[in-house]
Amino acid sequence: MIELYHIWHQYQPPKWALSDITLDVKKGDFYFVTGPSGSGKTTLLRIIFRELLPTQGQIVVDGRNIFRIPDHKIYKLRRTMGIVFQDFRLLFHKRVFENVAVVLQVLGVPHREIRRRVFIALRMVNLHHKMWEYPSQLSYGEQQRVAIARAVVNNPKILLADEPTGNLDPELAFEIMSLFREINKKGATVIICTHDRELIRHFGEKILFLFKGKLIRKEIL
Ligand code: ADP
Ligand code: MG
Repeated sequence: MIELYHIWHQYQPPKWALSDITLDVKKGDFYFVTGPSGSGKTTLLRIIFRELLPTQGQIVVDGRNIFRIPDHKIYKLRRTMGIVFQDFRLLFHKRVFENVAVVLQVLGVPHREIRRRVFIALRMVNLHHKMWEYPSQLSYGEQQRVAIARAVVNNPKILLADEPTGNLDPELAFEIMSLFREINKKGATVIICTHDRELIRHFGEKILFLFKGKLIRKEIL
């Protein structure tokens, strides 16, 4: 589903944010990527999302070499993916509902269907009662849950999440992980970056360890 071949990335010389990463993520896999701050987790996700072009290497997502996809067709790739960014990237001038709905609006989903699916997604993260508020009226943890609802509202084939439970209390973090697991059981391929050992211990199946941009270990439990 996601194949990486000898991915190298450098933002600024001489340091390499990623060094020679080769990976084969199969359809339906549930992966954790872990490692200390600065080890390259976010860089790896941004490359898979095709937000960032690596300095070297190739990636095949769902059978397509994603660097050969022209910019104006990236939306086709992205509509198969959901992503929770570490910094959420919510639209602060739009209400919670619209923040989640935007994913479906660009796909031309009918209005009523959008209302239904946004409500379901927000209910999953227990935020349906705040649908008409603005992100600035929400706590940090609630904003994070809006970002999670937005990532899953489209039933993506691939779900990427960058420290998605970083600001949530442990109970809610477990709920969110269970939700990701459910989505995974329905067939989605999931990759989650986290340094929460407790979550990995509880939910870990396949774990990649990054250190200074290198893939130093892979555990299959
Ligand atoms: P992690 O998510 O594991 O904390 P990152 O992928 O964010 O790691 O960062 C990997 C390395 O790349 C770090 O050394 C970081 O300082 C550097 N880096 C990340 N983003 C940028 C950027 N936009 N410009 C320059 N250096 C960056
Ligand atoms: Mg990061």
